[in-house]
Amino acid sequence: AALGRLAVELLGQVRDVVVEHEEELGRLDAIAGDGDHGIGMRRGVDAAVAAARQAAANDGGASVARILTVAGEAWSERAGGTSGALWGSAVIAAGLALGNRDSYSGEDAAAAVTAFTDAITALGKAEPGDKTMVDALLPFRDAFLTAFDAGTPVAASLAAAAASATAAADRTAELRPLKGRARPLAEKSLGHPDPGAVSFALIATRISAHIS
Ligand code: ADP
Ligand code: MG
Ligand code: MG
Repeated sequence: AALGRLAVELLGQVRDVVVEHEEELGRLDAIAGDGDHGIGMRRGVDAAVAAARQAAANDGGASVARILTVAGEAWSERAGGTSGALWGSAVIAAGLALGNRDSYSGEDAAAAVTAFTDAITALGKAEPGDKTMVDALLPFRDAFLTAFDAGTPVAASLAAAAASATAAADRTAELRPLKGRARPLAEKSLGHPDPGAVSFALIATRISAHIS
């Protein structure tokens, strides 16, 4: 299944960008959180890649839904932590939106982006402005759908969405955390961006570069 292979490849890209930024993400999370965002994302994505590769190899016909379901389960389980549970459920939701398709249309990509976003807001219940990854994720989704609905091809819509996520992640520096572990140390967090928003923007940028 070609789309399953693309999913495995993209997870490998996600792992590479997480590894490149692991220490930086840990330092950012140490400012007002517990400092484990880099290592947690690393553990989660390593497990996700291993599970996805195994599913793709065990069963040459594994659907993208199956591959991303085992990947998301492994991510949540191995990462521990809030971001791992959120990323795991979002990866599963994106996979289920794609089902057993062998290639994707623009509408499929839009459905996957929407399902990914909805999974995170449903599970985490963060509101815009709470200083979480949602503050980069919603601008990503909105920019993607706006561009795509205006007739922009998927790759260019993704590039616009990734740029929007990056700018939004930077702007989280101005916010005080209202959700998650960083909340008690909100004042320390002022002037620094949210680690989960930063990692999301880095990953979105990498995926966009790989799809173009
Ligand atoms: P933990 O906080 O359990 O140590 P991580 O350090 O890996 O987990 O992840 C922290 C990130 O998780 C935060 O920077 C924030 O972006 C995100 N986060 C925390 N709570 C929520 C939530 N309720 N909804 C969305 N994202 C959240
Ligand atoms: Mg943490
Ligand atoms: Mg933690």
